[in-house]
Amino acid sequence: MSATTGDRTNAATATVDLHARPAAPRTAALLTVDVEDWFHVNYRSFRPPAGPPALRRVEPNTDRLLELCARRGDRGTFFVLGCVAQDHPGLVRRIAAAGHEVACHGLAHELLYEQGEARFRSDVGDARARLQDLSGQSVLGFRAPSWSLTRRSLWALDALVELGFRYDASLFAVENYMYGLREAPPAPAFVRTLGGATLFEVPAPALRVGPLAIPHGGGFYLRMLPLWFERLAMRLHARRGEPSMLYVHPREVDEVEIAMPLGALESFIQSARVAAGRRKLLRLLTEHTWQPIADVYADEIAAPVV
Ligand SMILES: [Zn+2]
Repeated sequence: MSATTGDRTNAATATVDLHARPAAPRTAALLTVDVEDWFHVNYRSFRPPAGPPALRRVEPNTDRLLELCARRGDRGTFFVLGCVAQDHPGLVRRIAAAGHEVACHGLAHELLYEQGEARFRSDVGDARARLQDLSGQSVLGFRAPSWSLTRRSLWALDALVELGFRYDASLFAVENYMYGLREAPPAPAFVRTLGGATLFEVPAPALRVGPLAIPHGGGFYLRMLPLWFERLAMRLHARRGEPSMLYVHPREVDEVEIAMPLGALESFIQSARVAAGRRKLLRLLTEHTWQPIADVYADEIAAPVV
């Protein structure tokens, strides 16, 4: 699978060279949290509030996750939005003080392919600087809002390298109307960017079965799939020498349900089986020892960017 290197304009055929240097097998359980509020969504039918929303839930919900982790000695990677860091600086300090990895989820939860390359660079650069100031950590990882690093926004991988990031965690092998890149690696691996650089990629959790990639481990998929499937997927990943991953949003542990102004289909995607999803998430958190990406892949992340 070769890249159309250098041709950033040919979005229809652009892809990444996925198997430059696969990472050594690991069987860790990776906990990742996208630190954002209830209104940080990108649904087509969603009309965000005109001004800054009065109701904020990101602090109490993230604090609940921090408490759950502290109780069991688990740690994770917290991909924090730059605007959340601006409005809730104490939250970023608490995440870092608890020993978690602070990573970047962009500035304001815009889809990369709508944001465009120039604003992506300046927004994400600002967000990273703010997160580094607050956390005292070198921010190494990035995850695109709504997995929006797709064929249309592969330029972002080069921008991340140039901004100083050491890994990306945005590629999702399952394509739908909002996100996805079916050539995403099945497990963490080095990828070759369009510009010819090498960047470590930690893809979204998807279980490969023949030609299929079954998404799981978070969001809609965790809510809809039975718990036994999630457990089976984790066992199969481990047998293959791959890590498992959970991706969590603070709103998913919220007991307060907020009615989102969405169309019927997107309302279903956002809200179906919320309570069941919360139960499964809380159960899975107790069944494994969870670790941050930067710990498990320290060697790969420290490898020189070439
Ligand atoms: Zn997000």
